Amino acid sequence: MKIAFIGLGNMGAPMATNLVAAGHDLHVFDLSAEAMRALGEAGASVAASAAAAVEGAAVVISMLPAGAHVKGLYLGRDGAPGLLASLAAETLIIDASTIAPEDAREVAAAAAEHGLDYLDAPVSGGVGGAKAGTLTFIVGGSEAGFTKARPVLEGMGKNIFHAGAVGAGQVAKICNNMLLGILMSGTAEALALGVENGLDPAVLSEIMRQSSGGNWVLNGYNPWPGVMENAAASRGYQGGFLTNLMAKDLGLAWELALGSRSAVPMGSQARNLFALHAKAHGELDFSSILKLYRHDD
Ligand code: NAD
Repeated sequence: MKIAFIGLGNMGAPMATNLVAAGHDLHVFDLSAEAMRALGEAGASVAASAAAAVEGAAVVISMLPAGAHVKGLYLGRDGAPGLLASLAAETLIIDASTIAPEDAREVAAAAAEHGLDYLDAPVSGGVGGAKAGTLTFIVGGSEAGFTKARPVLEGMGKNIFHAGAVGAGQVAKICNNMLLGILMSGTAEALALGVENGLDPAVLSEIMRQSSGGNWVLNGYNPWPGVMENAAASRGYQGGFLTNLMAKDLGLAWELALGSRSAVPMGSQARNLFALHAKAHGELDFSSILKLYRHDD
C-alpha cells in the first residue's frame, strides 16, 4: 500500500521515518529540500511536489503547521488546484496537524464532494513521542475511516482514540494543549520562584515531581536548562514544539471558547504569555517561556 506523507518538520520527519521502518511504501514531500534529503536517506521515496507524492496513494497523511497550510494543500491556493482535485476516489486523508475544528470540517466537506474520506488526527506526545513511535492520536471522522486508518496510525503511535465526528479530534487536542500551555507556564513560574529563593532547580523539580504539583512537564519536559538531559531546554530550546505553535494552539482554544461562550481564564492568561514570548522567541521550543520569569535570562 502506497502512503504519501506531506510535511516533514519536527514531528512529521520522525513520524514518517517510523512508517518507513514499519515497511510502508512511503512517498514524501516537504518545502524543505533538507528535510526531504533526510527522509530519502531513511528509505522513503522523495517526490518533486505534493501532487507527485500522492499519485496512486491509498492513504495521504499531512503534518503541517496550521490551518492555512492544510487548506492550501487540499483545497488549493492562489489559483493553484489543491490535492482533492487529483486524488483517486477511496483515498483516505489523515491530517495530523493541529488546526481549527471548523477548518477540518471545511476540508472534510470538500473531500466528501470528491468521494474522499477525511480524518482529523492531531497528535500528542511531542517530538520524543514521535521518535519513539508512542504518539497519542486523537481522531475525528467516520468509523469506517478510523478502522482503515488504525493500522497506519499504529506504525507511529501507541494510544489511538476515536473522539467523534470530523473536528472532534481537533477539539480534544485543543483542550489538551490549552492545559499543557497552562502547565508549562505554571511550572516555569514555580521553578523561577524557587530558584530565586535559593533552591537548586533540579532538587526543586524532583520535589514537585513527586508531590502534588507533579505533571507531564516535570516528568519529561523540564523547562530549566540542565535539569533533564533530553529536554529541549538542555539544547538551547532548539527543535521540539515551537513557541509560535503553542501560541497558535492557545489562540485556537480562545476561538473555541468564544464560540461556545466558555470561560477560559487560565487559558487566556497562558495565551497572552505565549503571544508575548513569541514576539522574541517564536522559533524556540515553548519551554523557553521560562525566560519570561528568570531574573538572569
Ligand atoms: P514544523 O514547523 O517543525 O514542521 C512543519 C513542516 O511543514 C515544515 O518542514 C515545513 O517546511 C512543512 N510545510 C509547510 N507548508 C508546506 C506545504 N505546503 N507543503 C509541504 N510542506 C510544507 O512543525 P511541527 O512541530 O512538525 O508541527 C506540525 C503540526 O503538529 C503543527 O500543527 C503542530 O501544532 C502539531 N504538533 C506539534 C508538536 C511538537 O511537539 N512539535 C506536538 C504535537 C502537535
